[in-house]
This record gives sequence, structure tokens and C-alpha cells, in this order.
Amino acid sequence: MSSITSEESDGWHKGDNVNRNELLRHRTERLRKIVRHAYDNSPAFRHRLDRRGLTPDDIREAKDLEKLPIAKKDNLVDLQAQRPPFGGLLAVDTSNLTRIFQSPGPIYDPQGQGDDYWRWGEPLRIAGFGERDIVINTFSYHLSPAGFMFDDGLRAIGATVVPTGVGNTEIQVKIIADLRATGFVGTPSFLMTLLNKAKELGTDFTIKKAFVAAEPFTPTQQATFGAHGIDAYQGYGTADAGCIAFECAEKNGMHVSTDFVIEIVDPNTGEQLPPEEAGEVVVTLFDETYPLIRFGTGDISQLMSADCPCGLATERIAGFMGRIGDAFKVRGMFVHLRQVAEAISSFPELGDFVVEVTRENDRDFMGLKVETDNPMSSEGMIDRLADKIQEVLRIRADSIAFVSTGTLKSDQKIVDKREWR
Ligand SMILES: [Zn+2]
Repeated sequence: MSSITSEESDGWHKGDNVNRNELLRHRTERLRKIVRHAYDNSPAFRHRLDRRGLTPDDIREAKDLEKLPIAKKDNLVDLQAQRPPFGGLLAVDTSNLTRIFQSPGPIYDPQGQGDDYWRWGEPLRIAGFGERDIVINTFSYHLSPAGFMFDDGLRAIGATVVPTGVGNTEIQVKIIADLRATGFVGTPSFLMTLLNKAKELGTDFTIKKAFVAAEPFTPTQQATFGAHGIDAYQGYGTADAGCIAFECAEKNGMHVSTDFVIEIVDPNTGEQLPPEEAGEVVVTLFDETYPLIRFGTGDISQLMSADCPCGLATERIAGFMGRIGDAFKVRGMFVHLRQVAEAISSFPELGDFVVEVTRENDRDFMGLKVETDNPMSSEGMIDRLADKIQEVLRIRADSIAFVSTGTLKSDQKIVDKREWR
């Protein structure tokens, strides 16, 4: 589907003789092309330009993207709800899609054609994964795309995948020992859980390579994996955009994927920020299926100014530095405040709420405090609310407490007390 072959786009990573200017020229060319394609094929994008009196010719280079307002991830939910399923953002006929996912929000994520649609193969290869590896892929394989994203990336580089998915810790530990699995893909917290379980059960832990994503990778975890001979790399991506950035062997910041224009912007003004200034990560994909243009991820990071000694031509961003907007992650899964509100609103007796997220022993805990006129007589309702939360959010609340109406005075609906150390 893409007119640029993967061989061409991979070329930027093959040596240090490719200069940044050439990369930028190549990107500019692809930007012009995708803007034209999106204008011709995505009704939502055409509307976005028309409304501002812009034409595709007004977007000639990355700097011109500032003319467009940021398409915020939070707004994707409404956009898709108004015009299901993809909010007019899809730029091909749905018959071209290979899979359709539903991420929390709910947000529908299309998968287009190609062996490695989300581009995780290259970061995995750079992280040392290859044909001889048996890799347990512990991301979820249903509804959300993460499982298939990494499955496709691993298969693209010839690795053997064991699609273990989420949970089932004891089974996974046994699989690792039985198959003498060499690689792990998943959250760093879950790798820690598996490592501890293997110790507890006294089984062989043969994992030597890890690729972790979906949550911060703490210095403690990095040191622990290192001490167990596990070479761990981290990647950063989203359900909407696929791979955005990834570590090289230097493990100092993350290189931006080639198939992108990345901007770090002031989330209030949309202005592009220079290196070393923190702002929202905004991406423009060269994806003819789902051309997200100036898409605001809600994640905060910053560009790094120094070139990387590894020789890759692409720029680097610092790791995850926080979130803006109404969504946050718990155990690697997005939770949208509006969905918490939706679950609570199905109980007319319940009112205001606060979500509190804490972290202990490499696991996130989500607690919920909800106001009601009659907190003492609500035993059965706690269970019913817990079920509803699980149903709407697809993750469990670890604790729910009812408090008297008027006691939650916070303007903040989410109180994140996690420390990533
Ligand atoms: Zn590098």
C-alpha cells in the first residue's frame, strides 16, 4: 500500500554516512505526499484543512504543520463516535483493512496491509532479536493491538513467537523453562513478576533479551534485569500510531521512527518547541491507510540536541516524562476519566469521584473514592460498581471506597502517586 518500500526507509539506519539533511529532505517529500493523499481520501482531514482555508499546498514542510490545530487523542473518542467507526480519518476502503482493534476510550484502531504495519521489526532487530530467538509476547492479543503489533514485528525479523498474552504467570514461567525461551516482549513490570515467580518456583529463567514498552522503565528494574543477564531495550508507541521511538545500544534516549514527522509542542499554543524543552509528543504518520496528521499523543517528552554516537541519523527524544489530558495508564492499559465517569453514572446514588493510582512491588494499584449520600449502606453496591468498572475499563479497581457527599473537594479527578524509581 505504501509507495515507499521498507528497504528504502530502513536505509536510514544502515550506517553513519547518511546525514540528517538527507533524512529531512526525504521526510519532507513524504509529508507533502501524505497531506495530499489524506486531503483526497480522508473526509475528516479535508474538513480540517477546509475549515481553516488551507489547501495541501500550504503544508510544504514540518514547520507548516503549526498552521493546523493538534488533533488530540482525547478528541478521537468523540470524532469516532460522531462518525463511526473511524471518524472520517480512514483514507482507504475498510475492505483493505486486515484487522480492527478497539482500545480503551473506546477508540477504534485500524490495521492496514503489510507484514510489519506498525514498524516494530526494526527496533526489535536493533535490540538484538533475530531468527534464533524464541520470544514470549506478553502483550494482550485481543481488543487492543499491542499483542499483534509486536507479533508482526517479531515475525518480520524471523523470530519465533509464543503468543502468551497477559497474565497466567505460572504458565508463562513454565513455558520459558520448557521452551528455553530467549526473549521477552511486554511491560517491564510483568518481566519483573515473571523473574520473581521463576525464583520462587526454582525454575530456569532463560530470557536473555527483553523489549519493554507501555510504561516507564525504572532504574531499579533496569539494574535488576542487568544483574540477571537480561539485555533490555525500551520502545515507545501508541495503539493509534504504532512505533514512535526506540532505544539503540547506547540506551540514552530513544530514536524516532523514520516513518514520521515528530514535533514536540507547547500543548496550549501548538507551537513547536526546540530541543531540551518538554512538551506534547505530536506525530504525523506517512500511513496511507490511517494518515494521522499532527496527532497529539498526550504524552510529554523532549527532543535531545546531541547526535547519538551509534550513528543512526534519526533524532532522539528523552523517555516518557508524563501525560496531559484525560487519559492515564494503569498496568500498561489506558484508563480514560470519561469511562470511569460513565461506569459510575450508571448508579444514580453515586456522585463525584477521585481515582488514586499508587505503585508497590512493581505493580500499579488503582483505588477509587466515590461520593454518595449514604456511604455505610452500600456494601453490595461496591461489588456491582467493581464489576461495572471492570466491564467498561477492562481493568479492575483494586479498591473502592464510598465517602459522604461533599467530602471530595479536589478538582483533580486523578491523583497519581506513583514514583518510577
Ligand atoms: Zn543511537
